[in-house]
Amino acid sequence: MAKYFLRKKIGDRVVSGHPWIFGNELGDNEGTAEAGDIVEVYSYNGSFVGKGYINPASQIRIRLLTRDKNEVIDDQFFYKRIKDAWDYRKQIGYEENCRLIFGEADQLPALIIDKFNDYFVIQTLALGIDKWKGAIVDALNKLFSPKGIYERNDVPVRTLEGMEQIKGFLSEPFDTNIIIHENGLKFHVDIENGQKTGYFLDQQDNRRAIQHIVKGASVLEVFCYTGTFSMHAAKYGAKKVLGLDISENAVATARRNAELNGFEDICKFEAVNAFDILKQWVTDGRRYDVVILDPPAFTKSRENIQNAVKGYKEINLRGMKLTKPGGFLVTASCTNLVSPELFLETIGMAAKDAKRTLRQVAWLTQSADHPILWNVPSTQYLKFLIVQVL
Ligand code: SAH
Repeated sequence: MAKYFLRKKIGDRVVSGHPWIFGNELGDNEGTAEAGDIVEVYSYNGSFVGKGYINPASQIRIRLLTRDKNEVIDDQFFYKRIKDAWDYRKQIGYEENCRLIFGEADQLPALIIDKFNDYFVIQTLALGIDKWKGAIVDALNKLFSPKGIYERNDVPVRTLEGMEQIKGFLSEPFDTNIIIHENGLKFHVDIENGQKTGYFLDQQDNRRAIQHIVKGASVLEVFCYTGTFSMHAAKYGAKKVLGLDISENAVATARRNAELNGFEDICKFEAVNAFDILKQWVTDGRRYDVVILDPPAFTKSRENIQNAVKGYKEINLRGMKLTKPGGFLVTASCTNLVSPELFLETIGMAAKDAKRTLRQVAWLTQSADHPILWNVPSTQYLKFLIVQVL
């Protein structure tokens, strides 16, 4: 196995537990490795750091899988890691649906596995983990005897690793339109053509957090995707709910979800561009008791953080103006590069411009099946805030 040595003058990130090693942090090496191979990493003075997979084509040159010199990276290794992750999910109360593997937080960098009851959706986002796809599928088969496994590797980040974007079955073909249960509600999930892995499990706990504020309320859910918050609002007693999304497909599924749960009289959906319509409705003087905003990530690159902040400020400003005095704003951000502090600061700026006072009800993050590893700050990405808008 090839050995790679870290440079002397690098930060303490790697030593203190972060699994990524960038190209400019590496000095000498002994032996050579092919893209995707497992290599050993040592500090400049020869002490063992860990083992991981390498990709010379990627800025993140090595991602560590273990810091134990004696641990062998083989099929059994992946079985054990996945089993550990499953045991952890069960321990903290997730069984039917959960993010079973959340990459770095489960010590399986660049691997995502979502479990929708008996169905599994996989993303292998780096070459070194993609090579183990067979072992990962075998482990899922052994642990769960799934009804189906599907790969949603149709994601642009794979091109940074020199891989193609693909999707398809990793099991016998099955009907990829499934129904899942969440908080006593039912949802259609389109594994093949839905966004990301088909469903946003990271908000599954936060959807319950709106329980008390929506009773008897008129609710506007903006960026509603398949209407998950809308359905929860109806379940918790909202009088009227309107969901908006730019995607016709998402809105069609949201309507089917309303029918599935018997809420078609309460929940209505429209396919519109939120940025245009919110502006118009503010001018028209529309008002709601509760406004929910869960936009997509606004940027993936540092150069665009200021634009992302501008976007958050704009929609939150409009969201506040659409909220009746004493009503509630539920607002989220999944942009990894926008820190919790920056998000709160941005909401504060919007409140100032809207000349409204905020009273905080809840300040949350992603559900716990997407664990936050303190040594890897980027594992915390979701910001979720509920405020009363006075
Ligand atoms: N709250 C949802 C997830 C929302 S994801 C859930 O928990 O399931 C963000 C959504 O915003 C996507 O469905 C996307 O189609 C939608 N979107 C993106 N740009 C938009 C725009 N300009 N106007 C309205 N919706 C938009």
